[in-house]
Amino acid sequence: MFVPLLATLLAAAPSASEVILGGALSEGGAMARVTDLSDRVGARLSGSAGAAEAVRWAADQFRAAGVNVRTEPVKVPVWVRGEERGEVLAASGRRAWPLALTALGGSPPTPAGGIEAEVVEVTGLQALETAPVQGRIVYFHHEMAVASDYDRASAIRTFGPAKAARRGALATLVRSAATDSERSPHTGWVRFQPGESAIPAVAIATEDAAALHRWLGQGPVRVRLVLGCRLEPDALSSNVVAEIKGRERPAEIVLLGAHLDSWDLAVGAQDDGAGVGIVLDAARLLARIRPGPRRTVRFVLFMNEENGGEGAKAYAAAHGNEPHAAALEADAGAGRPLSIEARAADGAEAFLAPLLRPLGVLGVIRIHRSEHHGADLGPLARTRRLAAVSVQQDVSHYFDFHHSAADALDKIDPTSLAQASAAWAWMTWALADAPGTLPPPPIEPPPQD
Ligand SMILES: [Zn+2]
Repeated sequence: MFVPLLATLLAAAPSASEVILGGALSEGGAMARVTDLSDRVGARLSGSAGAAEAVRWAADQFRAAGVNVRTEPVKVPVWVRGEERGEVLAASGRRAWPLALTALGGSPPTPAGGIEAEVVEVTGLQALETAPVQGRIVYFHHEMAVASDYDRASAIRTFGPAKAARRGALATLVRSAATDSERSPHTGWVRFQPGESAIPAVAIATEDAAALHRWLGQGPVRVRLVLGCRLEPDALSSNVVAEIKGRERPAEIVLLGAHLDSWDLAVGAQDDGAGVGIVLDAARLLARIRPGPRRTVRFVLFMNEENGGEGAKAYAAAHGNEPHAAALEADAGAGRPLSIEARAADGAEAFLAPLLRPLGVLGVIRIHRSEHHGADLGPLARTRRLAAVSVQQDVSHYFDFHHSAADALDKIDPTSLAQASAAWAWMTWALADAPGTLPPPPIEPPPQD
């Protein structure tokens, strides 16, 4: 009796892919977690009460999933939004126009009475070098239309204001780094070097950018800005780190990460609540599989991705000398999974192809090589040779809402998120349990700015 019963039990034991894909696709775990994070915690900009609450919430979620969790200290900048308004002043043939604007994170305030000046348009960082910006407000015009334009547009937003300040500009406006905005401006980080003079910097809605661009083509335009935002002293926050120990090579790590902080304008349902939901659901599903993975799976919810990347730097400083077999970072919203992207050396496709097989049911069959890794993996990739794997998701509408007040739960399609969640969790397991490892690329050179 015993042998046939055992055989029946073994035959009935679900495979790892059945546990992961079955669980992710039928239980709605990622959606339930991003919903709870959005409703219970809400916005969670670094250093805010929301961020502190998010750290406690995330640790509780890992505990409930049955995985060991700890917090690791991260010192973060604290930036607080205040009053913000501005208008294009009336001119001949044109009424005054109130701008749909929002301060960029890290912007200083205007003087109490605001700033009023003539606007000069520049079309990029290069054009700024020769434009007559002294004593004026610079408007950065760009034409981001699709997701792949984001790198160029966000570079203008992040680095343009400091360059304009060096050339004597009074303030900057930038068209939101967005594919759409419905007059809801998209914030983001502006970077001023320590000790360097900083000037007020705002993003404007795409509609207002189009109008401003048109009016600037007709003649002089003056704008008034009033901003009450400010930087406060740095605060202590945390990365949340959880682990499932490897059964055979526990020192080797496969990292699955997302970022816990969000901008302050919304609950950050897509950026990066969806990624948090994906990581937490992966922890919950992988913890069910017996025996556990060959290598250690480490789940990291990074703090301060949005305005400083201090969580990523702290992680690399603390763990950069540990062997990371592969790293994955889910930070591209809740769209359906399309393909697998590998930042790896030659041989990556041959290594990954058999691992991908269970994802065929989701239509994920293609592998392509790229230099891409999530922002939070940058410091690690610059510390050690790091193979990074991403599930490329559908981001065709991601930048319509990203960093804006509209990044709310209604933008998430639960079916797409469940599919993405299944793909991320499966790739994490497959990389952790594979006999071999993905060949890593060379160490990444330091960033240029
Ligand atoms: Zn993000």
